[in-house]
Amino acid sequence: MIENVIEFFKNLPAKSCTTCGKDIEEQHECYSNQCDECNIV
Ligand SMILES: [Zn+2]
Repeated sequence: MIENVIEFFKNLPAKSCTTCGKDIEEQHECYSNQCDECNIV
């Protein structure tokens, strides 16, 4: 069923970081809608 999840995310529009507004390209889907920089705690 993993393939279905991949297809689901492929069909999603490009995400933008909710903190800095930067476009998020290939990020881990499990992360929040933030870029790598903003994900650093
Ligand atoms: Zn950011």
